[in-house]
Amino acid sequence: MSAEEQQQRASPYRRVVLKISGEGFTRNNERGINMASVVELAQETYRAAKSGVELAIVLGGGNILRGAQFSAGTTSIQPATAHYMGMLATIINGLAFQDALEALGLETRLVSALFMQDVAEPNIHRRIERHLSKGRVVILTGGTGRPFVTTDTAAAQAALELKADIVMKATKVDGVFSDDPAKNPHAILYSRITYREFLRQNLRVMDPEAVTKCSEHQLPIVVFNFRRPGNIERAVRGERVGTLIYAGDATTGGEDVSP
Ligand code: UDP
Repeated sequence: MSAEEQQQRASPYRRVVLKISGEGFTRNNERGINMASVVELAQETYRAAKSGVELAIVLGGGNILRGAQFSAGTTSIQPATAHYMGMLATIINGLAFQDALEALGLETRLVSALFMQDVAEPNIHRRIERHLSKGRVVILTGGTGRPFVTTDTAAAQAALELKADIVMKATKVDGVFSDDPAKNPHAILYSRITYREFLRQNLRVMDPEAVTKCSEHQLPIVVFNFRRPGNIERAVRGERVGTLIYAGDATTGGEDVSP
């Protein structure tokens, strides 16, 4: 391997599951999907994929529809139906994202947890692992394929199933704060926090169900801001960005949080 290739591969991770929130597919919290935003995200992801790390990407759909919000306050739609609509939203994002990544020259596969055989492969983990080992970026859509959960949980699930080293959540804030930074200007950004403390403080930047799932398997999570250029690549290369959610260790003196 040449020195340049070595440099390109330098990452502590072999395989990463990257969750990208639906907000990445639109501008300024607008609803819907905006192709300029998708292309920007694809460019950032391209740089991360070139690090040589195997990359499976779970997409959110909140830019289009979230099931719980959509069915709230009406009896005319069943909650489960609304959740399936949310899952379909992730597939819409996936179709756009796949084309945007491939336009940059990446080889990709689009996978859906819901049957979508005209446009996406079924979710067969051995097959996904094969794509990853061949250097293809795998885009996982449709969440878990079941209602009443979020794509954060789908990402935790995928990371466990695919034996990834870490789950990364790319979102619109810089990491895990002590409070909602949009509402509380004094909220503190943590550089590290244990699973236990994250759950105890009832923090919401990552679905607690997903954090619980990761904690059961000591799977670390990094939460970071995708809007900062280069952040996805930095995170995938193992550089310090955002907040690490983890089991805790002696390096922090046993503290649960570290600003
Ligand atoms: N969803 C679901 N099952 C899953 C994943 C997602 O029912 O396994 C639905 C759920 O209604 C969710 C919506 O799809 O609100 C969109 O996903 P999510 O809210 O996680 O998107 P994000 O907030 O990350 O953009």
